[in-house]
Amino acid sequence: MSWWFGVKLWKRVFLGLILGVAFGLAVSQTMAPEAGEALLNQIKIVGDIFIAAIRLVIIPLIFFTLIAGVLALGDPKKLGTIGLKTLVLYLLTTFFANTIGLAMGTIFRPGRGVELGAAEPRVISAEAGGFLDRIVGMATKNPFEKIMAGEPMTLVIGALLILAAIWLTRRVEEGGVKRPVVAVIFTALFALGIAMSSMDILFLIFVSLVIGVVFLFEPGDDGPAMRFFTYASDKVLGVTHMIMEIAPFGVFALIAWVAGTRGLETFTAIFWLVIAVYLGCFIHMALIYGGIVKFGLKLPFINFFRGILDAQMVAYSTSSSSATLPVTISNVTENLGVKKSIAGSVLPLGATINMDGTALYLGIVALFTAQAFGYSLEPHHYGLIALTAALVSIGTAGIPSASLFLLATVLQVFDVTPEHTAIIVGFIFPFDRLLDMMRTVVNVTGDATVAVTVAKWEGELDEAVFRQKSSN
Ligand code: ASP
Repeated sequence: MSWWFGVKLWKRVFLGLILGVAFGLAVSQTMAPEAGEALLNQIKIVGDIFIAAIRLVIIPLIFFTLIAGVLALGDPKKLGTIGLKTLVLYLLTTFFANTIGLAMGTIFRPGRGVELGAAEPRVISAEAGGFLDRIVGMATKNPFEKIMAGEPMTLVIGALLILAAIWLTRRVEEGGVKRPVVAVIFTALFALGIAMSSMDILFLIFVSLVIGVVFLFEPGDDGPAMRFFTYASDKVLGVTHMIMEIAPFGVFALIAWVAGTRGLETFTAIFWLVIAVYLGCFIHMALIYGGIVKFGLKLPFINFFRGILDAQMVAYSTSSSSATLPVTISNVTENLGVKKSIAGSVLPLGATINMDGTALYLGIVALFTAQAFGYSLEPHHYGLIALTAALVSIGTAGIPSASLFLLATVLQVFDVTPEHTAIIVGFIFPFDRLLDMMRTVVNVTGDATVAVTVAKWEGELDEAVFRQKSSN
């Protein structure tokens, strides 16, 4: 067994990915469709357990890492500059993603001549929740809703988190830190309670930032508080590593399911759309992210991509940038040398609002729709598509297929009828997973790129770690 653990994790996850594709395709080619699907659905449970386990650490990880990060910065003003640089970079990379998406849609014309007759229309709301809607929703929502309703999952997760917090408190007190601990634990539990019931990462980021800044202003409290939060975030990262040991099996199961249930036939039906999206994603990652790392930061981009392979593979198999977040944080801090102060703030924000792959995809699908139904586009439409695609990508949640259901907002730009929108969504939906996997990889890679860039600019990057050679 020890040989298994001796192999680097990314290699084991990669093995899971390759074997998963092979197994899924083999099942779909050799077994009867119903029996094959039933088998793959059974196997997929392993993948669902992996996702559920990793989701469990998202909230405590962001909470502890972000507060520890703010305290490590030592100066609230620095937060402002980091925030500004992060937002500018997020917007800038999204702009390039938009441009590449529109170029791909124009060059490959994926929508020409597609057969939409068999599509089962799906009606979606045109009132797509944008960024502002989400803020308003957060402010007007009762954060204790789910707890008060006694939702079993929330109560179980809440109980687990409280137990974890109590255990941590005991450990910290053993270490001789007492006075502020009670206050820290109280705020921690309070925030965790709020966050886990609303489960909105943006809100959690906000709460954690406020608590971090409050501690910064408490003279004398930053020492013990910082020790506590740093200790707690290290422990949660430790738990993330443990969960990642299931990743090779989880990835195998998820990919086998995708390959077996949405396999080769899928690919041929939307061949040009897949080509346009995948190529656009690769070009964006190589040119924009690779370019930023190599020419902007003068760092070896091979190390960058190698360092985040785990996160990319988890993103590919789960199609969820928020489920991947703990892995992204762990990769970026441990393999790329980004200090936790940056990783803990930039990455959770990115997982919520920075979705370059999604923006790129929405642009291509908009052109796909125009081509399939023969809508003619004026030059200004391209600008508007790019703008709305960027805004929608900001409001998209980091979960599977989230953006497809926000497509109506982008299509409104050139007055696509609700019937046509429903047909397009119905047509793409069965195949969307294949596209979703790739755009999620880009979403996650974009977050990592911005984290490295901001860290380098702020002097919070350990270049020795970034430049280290891979040991195997
Ligand atoms: N699945 C994507 C993500 O989690 C969001 C999308 O549907 O574009 O990043």
